[in-house]
Amino acid sequence: MKVRVLGSAAGGGFPQWNCRCPVCVLAWNGDPRVRPRTQSSIAVSADGAHWFLFNASPDLKQQIAANPPLHPRGQGRHSPIAGVVVTNADVDHVGGLLSLRERQPLSLYGTERVLATLADNAIFGVLDPQVVERHTLVLEQTAPLCLPGGASSGLSVETFAVPGKPALWLEGGTGSREDTVGLLVRDGAGALLAYIPACAQVTEAVRERVRGAKLLLFDGTLWRDDEMIASGVGSKTGARMGHVSIGGPAGSLAGWAGISIPRKLFIHINNTNPVLIEGSEERQAVIEAGWDIAEDGQEFLL
Ligand SMILES: [Zn+2]
Repeated sequence: MKVRVLGSAAGGGFPQWNCRCPVCVLAWNGDPRVRPRTQSSIAVSADGAHWFLFNASPDLKQQIAANPPLHPRGQGRHSPIAGVVVTNADVDHVGGLLSLRERQPLSLYGTERVLATLADNAIFGVLDPQVVERHTLVLEQTAPLCLPGGASSGLSVETFAVPGKPALWLEGGTGSREDTVGLLVRDGAGALLAYIPACAQVTEAVRERVRGAKLLLFDGTLWRDDEMIASGVGSKTGARMGHVSIGGPAGSLAGWAGISIPRKLFIHINNTNPVLIEGSEERQAVIEAGWDIAEDGQEFLL
């Protein structure tokens, strides 16, 4: 299984277009300790020829351009992108679907709640259901990921609920266990990827779920809960947004302590997060705990 990081930043990317927080300022100034990042998305392939996107960020067009395995091949219309799996209806996870119009056959996977949200928004009708097949993911079940037309891709995905919150723009409706999900992606050879880009708490149940994974990509939105307030760019805490912080006694580094997964990286990193700065105290703490910070363009072979 090949896993490619298309975008490692949270919503807004890094630097964010309207942000002068201390970390974004480094990026605007071209400081070599930080690298720009696009918004949260990965691509997975069992055969290297057919790829599934896991979340479609508003930066998708730029991400396709930056990742040669996703370029069209042959003559006429073609794409190695066989489908998209969306984990929730966050703008940074579904905005890129609009860039996948042009009547390209695709398989689109999401929970009933996510697919219903997309169906309720007429603009997503640009992905004509006649061409873009919708497939419902059911919590606690494993589904094969099929190429458009139904052939096997060699990948399957298991969806499970994790502690979290609905997408910010959907708040006010009723909450659901499907609002925040983690995914286990398997191939026929036993490789296992655990992808959890949003999670409010590392519970024993979450730890148990990812047992046996070779690669864990986990919510690295914030270093500390009041980071956006302290950076002067917002009023919301991480807890309010459904994201566990990395640092602190109740943080995810502490929560994951002792887990035996060979490769562990934080992804979906907010632009205020000091782990984005090479050499920072916080980056050092992450590395000493056996973790890494995901970067755009990284590829893992499982
Ligand atoms: Zn910023």
